[in-house]
Amino acid sequence: MTLPTVAVGALGGTIAMTPAHPGEPVAPELSAAQLIRTVRGLEAVAHVAATSLRNLPSPALTTADVLDALAWARAQVDDGAAGVVLTHGTDTLEESAFLLDLLWDRPAPLVLTGAMRPPRSPGPDGPANLYAAVVVAAAPAARDLGAVVVLDDEVHLARWVTKTRTAGVGAFASPGAGPVGRVVEGALVLTLRPARRAAPLPVPAGAAQVALLEFTLGDDGALLRLLGGAGFDGVVVAGAGAGHVSPTAAEAVSCAAERMPVLIASRTGSGPTATRTYGYPGSETDLVRRGAQLAGSLTGRKARLLLWALLAGGADAATVRREVARRGGLAGD
Ligand code: ASP
Repeated sequence: MTLPTVAVGALGGTIAMTPAHPGEPVAPELSAAQLIRTVRGLEAVAHVAATSLRNLPSPALTTADVLDALAWARAQVDDGAAGVVLTHGTDTLEESAFLLDLLWDRPAPLVLTGAMRPPRSPGPDGPANLYAAVVVAAAPAARDLGAVVVLDDEVHLARWVTKTRTAGVGAFASPGAGPVGRVVEGALVLTLRPARRAAPLPVPAGAAQVALLEFTLGDDGALLRLLGGAGFDGVVVAGAGAGHVSPTAAEAVSCAAERMPVLIASRTGSGPTATRTYGYPGSETDLVRRGAQLAGSLTGRKARLLLWALLAGGADAATVRREVARRGGLAGD
């Protein structure tokens, strides 16, 4: 039997972190080749080619790092890899996965994984996660899903997945959607497929600054007012509940919307923004009247990356509106 080739690119994260001396805090250390060597049984799943791309804690990664990983992943597939795995710190994994998903224009699976426990802890989850990720990357059933996240033997679409806890191997979930599959006995069992997958966006060649602000009790919009003069090109406000702010913050939304795209998401972390339920100052209908656009079921973090990709790609206002409406829809396409 000919085994598929899976390319593994390592970006860093806890999966690669060891202490300099026993008992000390961990920091990135292991190379991609070292990571692969810790995984028993991989040789029966795929030919694995390992490359160290970065070795950073994930809060230190940038969108430029993610775009470099995208270019590398595309090249691997074009050279014959059946799928690609990226190892990544779990802290910002959902953001890189979502950005990659917006841009991934190959049918081959692009799988992100990581670990909640470092390699030298009792019962590290990295090797099992990497094994499951390679299984998914090699699986024909995972084609055309876009970018997926595999941890704890669960397969999540990048569109929905989020880190829900600071610790624990089951920290990842897809609120409102659930995992689309699992790795069982070394094979992918895919139970759901997305109804549609929107066409990939062009890879952004420019730059943009997009802020994410969370509305809080008593927030009068002072931070939002500062953004206009601070070089930002767009802003996402993670509003309370179904997309709400105070009356004074709503006035700041009006001012901001005159200068840049303003998206309103929900800070709850799950469920869509409302569209026609509330009519008070600062409600979703009021914010739309003031020129903001509702982000639908995109979390603030994901709405921010979508807006960044559009603005850095030179999209005009009509394209921003269309793509946010399309990708923020409940079906998440
Ligand atoms: N702080 C680590 C990181 O994101 C956490 C992890 O990988 O789980 O790089």
